[in-house]
Amino acid sequence: MVDLVANNSTNPGKLRIAIVGTGLVGSAALLALSGLQDVEVVGFEKSPVPREAGAWISLTVTGQLVLTKLISPEKINEIVYRPPDRAVYVTRHWRTGEDLVRQYSSEHIKEDFIQARTHRWPLLKLLMDHHPKDAVQYGKQVAAVRNSDVGAKLEFANGETTPDFDLVVAADGIYSGIRRQYWPDHQVQFKGAVAYRNVFHKSRVAHIKELHDDSSSWRRDGEVVFLSELGLDQYGVVIIKTEEPEYAATLRWERSISQEGLNRLRDHYKDWDPVISKVLDTVEEIQAYPLDSGPWLRELTRDDRVVFIGDASHPTAGAYGAGAAMGFGDAWALYRSLELTRRRGRGRRETAGYDLHKALQVFQQTRAPFLLRVEQQMALDRDTASYVAEAAGDEDEWKRRFKESGASIRWLQEHDVELEVLKAVSTVGVWKI
Ligand SMILES: Cc1cc2nc3c(=O)[nH]c(=O)nc-3n(C[C@H](O)[C@H](O)[C@H](O)COP(=O)(O)OP(=O)(O)OC[C@H]3O[C@@H](n4cnc5c(N)ncnc54)[C@H](O)[C@@H]3O)c2cc1C
Repeated sequence: MVDLVANNSTNPGKLRIAIVGTGLVGSAALLALSGLQDVEVVGFEKSPVPREAGAWISLTVTGQLVLTKLISPEKINEIVYRPPDRAVYVTRHWRTGEDLVRQYSSEHIKEDFIQARTHRWPLLKLLMDHHPKDAVQYGKQVAAVRNSDVGAKLEFANGETTPDFDLVVAADGIYSGIRRQYWPDHQVQFKGAVAYRNVFHKSRVAHIKELHDDSSSWRRDGEVVFLSELGLDQYGVVIIKTEEPEYAATLRWERSISQEGLNRLRDHYKDWDPVISKVLDTVEEIQAYPLDSGPWLRELTRDDRVVFIGDASHPTAGAYGAGAAMGFGDAWALYRSLELTRRRGRGRRETAGYDLHKALQVFQQTRAPFLLRVEQQMALDRDTASYVAEAAGDEDEWKRRFKESGASIRWLQEHDVELEVLKAVSTVGVWKI
């Protein structure tokens, strides 16, 4: 067990935190943790420059409650889209477009926090704009964490190593190498569907009279089409389509599919609500992302030195469109766990006052039960989808089952991370709140 912070040669008296991976979640963690007292936070990102790629990102209430603690609501509102009717999310009949389920944020949620949609690059850029200067080192691919009694060094792919860090935050995404280092048996595998997605200026679809001003999804037998404005005058399309593993293997992350592939998609959706075809007809290119998934971590920390957040901890592409928001929840929980378990003025070894053992206990207790519940819900939803699909031959029964299964997941989308940290603190027991 690591008791309190060990001093290190480069910055005595400060808690040294390394964040591996500065995607959305690593970036949010960097911003949050930089706000702690007596810390030095460094991000290591394997990409040589921030990657401008990415499409639709849903911001749940939870996600926004966290973001607005780090960035002003005004700045966030500049990059998001909320439909006029309190940001309603409408689930429609795949063929007729009939409005089947309408999902709102709870009535007590204030305007700045109700669910919203945006796209990845402006969100990432907004987070980066708030980072301390030069906090991220790019082109640094971390190959391993080397742990010892006094700290953890990062070893890079080129063989170089860092000085010791007190805490390593693994935010290296769904294919996390650090997760593989600690759990070599954890496998992330293709889960049978590909996400096709694009973002473009909304003027491209302005001529389509049937277009809705809400965020809509059309669902059938595990396939989903999402259409919505996304903020900054951009419009987004996301299609989750089941594909054979052999075909999915030919598609690459961030690669546009061929014209033939695009026509194949248009052909597949020609019998769905015609508005989908109309949008697809305007699309000149679309990117394919085979969706992978692996078991979620039960232990979110190792050796009181390493903590897993974001997709590195819960490796499922596309869970309720809440991947980024759940990661923001992790980042906030980690920040508060460290802050609330810190004590001050206890002598040299305790200069920074952080008790990593206790902090990571609080973090584990805050996040693990919630994440377990989400994972269980995904299993339940798979069963429900089969139940609905079995009624495919009977339109009325299919609709009845569909509506019946549209249970609210507000408990997930409006999960109160701050409250859970405070509860965990009271059970783990610390010196101050
Ligand atoms: C380029 C890109 C585009 C995306 N587009 C979408 C999208 O359109 N819609 C959507 O819903 N989700 C998208 N996602 C995923 C989404 O951002 C995540 O599911 C979610 O936000 C959780 O974020 P994360 O930071 O945990 O993981 P990620 O966003 O995957 O970030 C992980 C980061 O770690 C870095 N990294 C990985 N390994 C190492 C290593 N060994 N050393 C150093 N750095 C490392 C990666 O380069 C990446 O920047 C995208 C992710 C990426 C990386």
